[in-house]
Amino acid sequence: MTTTSVQPTPAPAPAGGEGHLLDVRDLHVEFRTREGVAKVINGVSYHLDAGETLAVLGESGSGKSVTAQAIMGILDMPPAVITSGEIRYRGEDLLGMPEGQRRQVRGKEISMIFQDALSALNPVFPVGWQIGETLREREGLSRAEARRRAVELMELVKIPAARQRVGDYPHQFSGGMRQRVMIAMSLALNPRILIADEPTTALDVTVQAQIMDLLSDLRRDLNMAMILITHDLGVVAGVADRIAVMYAGKIVEHADVRSLYRSPGHPYTKGLLESIPRLDQRGQQLATIKGLPPNLMRIPSGCPFHPRCPFAQPVCADVAPPEVALGDGRTSRCHFAEEVRDGRI
Ligand code: SF4
Repeated sequence: MTTTSVQPTPAPAPAGGEGHLLDVRDLHVEFRTREGVAKVINGVSYHLDAGETLAVLGESGSGKSVTAQAIMGILDMPPAVITSGEIRYRGEDLLGMPEGQRRQVRGKEISMIFQDALSALNPVFPVGWQIGETLREREGLSRAEARRRAVELMELVKIPAARQRVGDYPHQFSGGMRQRVMIAMSLALNPRILIADEPTTALDVTVQAQIMDLLSDLRRDLNMAMILITHDLGVVAGVADRIAVMYAGKIVEHADVRSLYRSPGHPYTKGLLESIPRLDQRGQQLATIKGLPPNLMRIPSGCPFHPRCPFAQPVCADVAPPEVALGDGRTSRCHFAEEVRDGRI
């Protein structure tokens, strides 16, 4: 395995259409609670092709993790209800699939790494046992075979002295090493798609970079596709091919990484980019996006971003912006997408 370098950004894959490895189409998800109905996903469409990395970016509550849970089939239903839409994996409709078949897809075809390794790992079992559990249950491996494979997986994710540490418990590992254990578990069945949900949130900056490098190397070396869910635009630059930016349950901008960093086409993306700390702006006040994400039980009319948008015009509060094509597969849901992209407003 080699160390990660910034990969050249390939041309964006075509939007929609047939033949994608994973295709989410016009997905709507509600959470029906005693307090009311929260419209958490409001028409999300994205796709993933073999070997690529899609970053799904947004603040808490934007719907990025809920979309991933719908793909994995692990949404808590109820209160969640998928009211419409499709999720296709290699052309097959995941939402219409019987649970037994769905379970075969989960882990073996599409696997997921969760945010918080400490709470996702069981404190009373050695990590090797936990990595091997899926192999014993799903592949019928013996305990010895599963342990041997667990050591191989721990070596794959670069846990030092894997053979000696396979019997250690989660609390004996650092936060970064625990996250590596989680990654090893997610790779046990050789998935084609890895969904990484905020994989570096609980880690310090140096360890974050190491984990991102590791994920990038693994994606390339194992020829997987990856969905990287994050709230931090800073972590995706050298890793993702495309970025889908989510706000209030919709994708508000979708672009290849280079175009999005160079000339964001949505004010929300622009605000996120401006709020990344930069070494050449030391001592200056960091830009922020004013206000808070909307209450999903009362999503603002028109453009849901209008109460926070520095460019909002009267039309924005009344008319929901359509998805505007910006060329090369880029899209933005803003009435003034071209002006924003070209820096004219
Ligand atoms: Fe801002 Fe209006 Fe564009 Fe929404 S549609 S992002 S409020 S300029």
